Amino acid sequence: MFTVNVAQLKKTPAESRRYVLRERLGFLPGEGGEELLLLSPAELDLTLTNARSYLWAVGEVIATVELICSRCLKKFPFLLRGRFEEKFRLTTEAEEGEEMPPVEEEIDFTPYVLESLLLALPMKPLCREDCAGLCPCCGQDLNQGSCSCSRVPADPRWAELAKFLNSQEGGGKDGGTKE
Ligand SMILES: [Zn+2]
Ligand SMILES: [Zn+2]
Repeated sequence: MFTVNVAQLKKTPAESRRYVLRERLGFLPGEGGEELLLLSPAELDLTLTNARSYLWAVGEVIATVELICSRCLKKFPFLLRGRFEEKFRLTTEAEEGEEMPPVEEEIDFTPYVLESLLLALPMKPLCREDCAGLCPCCGQDLNQGSCSCSRVPADPRWAELAKFLNSQEGGGKDGGTKE
């Protein structure tokens, strides 16, 4: 757990402390209940500052996650870089309009670490910027070479039309010469 004891820091206004914590989380809880495999421990570089009325936390998080390329469907490692900032109230009374959680003796930063990593996930993961993807017809990985059907349009309506035209042409000619 990314837990930090702040009992001492709470009593020392204007003081700042830095913590570097590593933890093997195993998985990231992704959207829709799917779990993303973490290939490295998550590392948190945390700076805590006693700003008198609140404790200011700034965290930089890195971890390597296993993603699936949205074009070629291969698994590949991806370095996530997350960041979070959070303020924890040091005064006993919350001021009006404030939504800071109060400081306990210990703060568990695990939820902030997980959230910042999830926010760093790419919308459309690519194993590399110029990944050629798979052939929509035969499934050949076009990064490893082209296939014979790579000229057939991906749109199924065009594929139907192409088939129709082929049968017209081929049928007429072949039929004529063979028989
Ligand atoms: Zn790819
Ligand atoms: Zn193909």
